[in-house]
Amino acid sequence: MPQLGFGVFQILDQEQAKQAVSDAIQVGYRLFDTAAVYMNEAAVGKAIRESGIDRSEFFVTSKLWVDHFSYEKAKQGIDVSLNRLGLDYIDLYLLHQPYGDIAGAWRAFEEAQQAGKIRSIGVSNFYPDQLKNLELMAKVKPAANQIEVSPWFQQADDVAFNKQEGIVTEAWAPFAEGKHDIFNNEVIAKIGQEYGKSNGQVILRWLLRRGIVTIPKSVHRERIAENFDVFNFQLDDEDMQAMNSLNKNESQFFDHRDPAAIESIFGTSLKALRK
Ligand code: NAP
Repeated sequence: MPQLGFGVFQILDQEQAKQAVSDAIQVGYRLFDTAAVYMNEAAVGKAIRESGIDRSEFFVTSKLWVDHFSYEKAKQGIDVSLNRLGLDYIDLYLLHQPYGDIAGAWRAFEEAQQAGKIRSIGVSNFYPDQLKNLELMAKVKPAANQIEVSPWFQQADDVAFNKQEGIVTEAWAPFAEGKHDIFNNEVIAKIGQEYGKSNGQVILRWLLRRGIVTIPKSVHRERIAENFDVFNFQLDDEDMQAMNSLNKNESQFFDHRDPAAIESIFGTSLKALRK
């Protein structure tokens, strides 16, 4: 699995999604991260298929949404993702959220892996206790856990837990979607000046040095290229400490354990599954 990939959340225009992925392929990205709920799996698949590059060079991740979290629905959802992508297999398929009938959906994942439809199966937004629960009840351990990690929410404990369990940590929203003026933060900019690098590049390097896979998103070709140009410098220990000091230690989006957030964001989908 490449350590640096490209995410396509919130690129709803299909042409724009396809163009962004095509630009990223030209720049050199080979890991692409989409999801059923992003509504752009088809555009991602099309850009990959039309690239002229062998399928085996790509690492394609997608995710099942909670409205398909049952054994039967997950089986359907996997096939829908494969059809939309227009690919014979998905490299990594994730349970997008830690709610609902995890056990049923996971059983469908394990079977799809056996059938060769998915190479690796994993999860997203799982806390250590939820991950341990799944590990104990499953036949196949999750290969990866995709969680929010940025300079504002560094998640050292969860990253360490994933590592201890032999599970890859993937950072979503590495730039916290620009919150708190992250691209102009002075601490990060000072580090960048030492190496002639931008704030975005310093953040990605910080994640890479922590052993975390990450998937920044952009629809601008020059930023797509900038975000990939991070393999020609290293952060030293002092830089890492300065980055670590930026931690606000709270999600920049919503707390995945807040019952009110779970009800308002996922309640309708989960209740509909019982009908
Ligand atoms: P992000 O990558 O942290 O930030 C994207 C934002 O930063 C966009 O507004 C982009 O603007 C801007 N940007 C990117 N590179 C830049 C640069 N070099 N300079 C200045 N601005 C720059 O946010 P994200 O898209 O939410 O997260 C990344 C990926 O993680 C997603 O696309 C998705 O694949 C995944 N994700 C997963 C979950 C989950 O629950 N599993 C949740 C959220 C995201 P432009 O596009 O205008 O350039």
